[in-house]
Amino acid sequence: MSDIDTLHPLELDTPRLSVENPQTRYDKQGERPDEERVTAAMQRFAKDFGRTAATYMESCIHCGQCAQACHFYTSTQNPKYTPIWKLEPFKQAYKRESGAFSFIYKALNLKHKVTIEELEEWQTLLYDSCTMCGRCSLICPMGIDIATLVGQARHGMFAAGLVPHELWAVAERAEREGSPLGATAKVLKERIDWLADENEIEIPMDKSQADVLIALSSIEIMKYPQSIVSTAKVLNHLGLSWTLRSDGYEATNFGLLSGNSEWQKDLSMKLIQAAIDCSAKLVIMPECGHAYGALRWQGANMYGKPLPFQVLHISEFLAEKVQSGEIKLKALGKSITFHDPCQISRRGGATQAPRDVIHALGADLKETQDTGDLNWCCGGGGGVVTIHRADPLRHKAFEIKMQQIDAAGADIAVTSCSNCRQTFDDGQAHFQWDKTMHSLLELVADNLIE
Ligand code: SF4
Ligand code: SF4
Repeated sequence: MSDIDTLHPLELDTPRLSVENPQTRYDKQGERPDEERVTAAMQRFAKDFGRTAATYMESCIHCGQCAQACHFYTSTQNPKYTPIWKLEPFKQAYKRESGAFSFIYKALNLKHKVTIEELEEWQTLLYDSCTMCGRCSLICPMGIDIATLVGQARHGMFAAGLVPHELWAVAERAEREGSPLGATAKVLKERIDWLADENEIEIPMDKSQADVLIALSSIEIMKYPQSIVSTAKVLNHLGLSWTLRSDGYEATNFGLLSGNSEWQKDLSMKLIQAAIDCSAKLVIMPECGHAYGALRWQGANMYGKPLPFQVLHISEFLAEKVQSGEIKLKALGKSITFHDPCQISRRGGATQAPRDVIHALGADLKETQDTGDLNWCCGGGGGVVTIHRADPLRHKAFEIKMQQIDAAGADIAVTSCSNCRQTFDDGQAHFQWDKTMHSLLELVADNLIE
């Protein structure tokens, strides 16, 4: 057991998974002088701030449209939550350290050196108030990809040891144990044995050869284990050669969310290596938004060359199978409102897939006012749901979702991301809301025509 387990034990019996004993503070990891932290952050900001980022920053015409696109600004009307403002220390580092006129800025002290107090304040902007949902990136008329830049800015914060502690703790646990929420290989094996027994279903583990490797999110393993049974039910029904692997199952990537690219790579490489070792042609990613993006869009960068297998989100896989006729579904007899997970729809391109599945369920799809690629984030992505001090802000942003889902007036709400689902569960408990968020995968498994 490390210090982090003692200081921040996991909280497993509450609606959302996080660590116990949260404290309101600006967090710092390790012991070192503030000056060193600022230097480490600025050096890393300058390193990551390449030509693309520089062009982005120079292109901003200060139109303010990104503010209207962000749920944290819209729900609070607080100008500090304007997306482009969150990148200010990044911009300062570029102008002072590596921009074309940096020598003038330095000589004349036109750009002041960022202070530790500013970085501490930016900790709450870069982590607590950005889910990297990309709505601002989509809206910006200059095409500035603020969400990606926030992800890069987090690298500098990690280098400085200035990460919200709960997020740092789950990321460190993922690096050390292979799972951010304590779903170690031993825990997974015990859960699979129990689920297979309880549901009288075959869940293959550690096959040396399989066409399909299934990845899981730790939220599913620890909180929504029925989704594992649903996955098995669908894949067994299709008669596929598939497996789970105890050396590569964790799809959740807190290296990516915390800003540690080495940890991000370590976590991705376990999945990639497991897929290669069992000669998988396809890796199916679970109902988890950022996990999907981490392998689908960033996996090849981590591997250093094209991945030797296809990556699909489970909703894309289900859509393919209902369209090919290999999966036939009973009519649900209910209307559905679908909550698009940002990383799967807007940032992942799989916006139509869940709608095709809902259509195959014979359900009447009642869209929210802003939907598909323009859907509002649940407020819990990007690791925000782990940060306790962000709870009041997150709940405020969640009100947009509640209002829009209520206005859509469907019988049930459905999504395809377990992180969204736990944010909805938490919001439901907080507001005593009468809506429960359901899983698309579980709906399919429950309505399969065998
Ligand atoms: S929408 Fe784009 S151009 Fe307008 S203020 Fe935001 S970042 Fe700048
Ligand atoms: S990525 Fe999403 S949460 Fe972050 S600033 Fe943009 S709109 Fe706001």
